[in-house]
Amino acid sequence: MDLKIIFVLFVICFNNICAASVLILVGPPGSGKGHISQALRDGYGFNHISAGDLLRRAVDEKVCGYEDIELKIKAGIPVENKVMHNLLKTQIERCINNGSRIIIDGFGGQSKEDVPFLYELLRINNLVVSAKTLYLVSSDDRCMERMGNRVICSVCARVYGRQMLQREGCSVCGGKLSVRSGDDPNTAKRRLERYNQVMKDNYGLYKQYISYAEFNVDDDYSIDDIATIFNIKDYNAK
Ligand SMILES: [Zn+2]
Repeated sequence: MDLKIIFVLFVICFNNICAASVLILVGPPGSGKGHISQALRDGYGFNHISAGDLLRRAVDEKVCGYEDIELKIKAGIPVENKVMHNLLKTQIERCINNGSRIIIDGFGGQSKEDVPFLYELLRINNLVVSAKTLYLVSSDDRCMERMGNRVICSVCARVYGRQMLQREGCSVCGGKLSVRSGDDPNTAKRRLERYNQVMKDNYGLYKQYISYAEFNVDDDYSIDDIATIFNIKDYNAK
């Protein structure tokens, strides 16, 4: 075989092995997971699965047991593992069947069962090798500050600064912007405390199970920095 062809095949195989097809963003509430996921979705063609959006959609669509989900979102306490895990499993399998690359955002800081569940889900779908976890590091004060200053589009879930409430709506889809019920200061504080408690155990589990990197979001950074960590710089947006 021609050496040039062998080299091209090698590059294709190398990129397929090393590039992440499943990105798992872990970080405290208010660390900017949604913002980072949106940028990677828009710029790199990933499918964005947000644990919070799955729950909010379940409430909007009035699925079985939605009243309980709604109460727990408002109180800032996690829903039952079975509920969250089923929603996530269904959505991940849908993306896998479509052949899409996936960002999983906001899953893994609610329960000690989250990481083993996610690992098993990736394993049975042969995705462990191409999965990477990015752990976002941020102080509680900065997280509270971000949560106190953000609004979300009710249609596409884009996140904006609170000054956008003065305007008509989402600049991408025109959807209504509102403050998340889990972002009021008391609920936000409870969510942070819960996250810090659960991550004492889950932090080690992530390191043990899935390829792992840390990233401090309190310093200045660009989305390209994160894309570099995930080795997804070479992909083009869909
Ligand atoms: Zn929108």
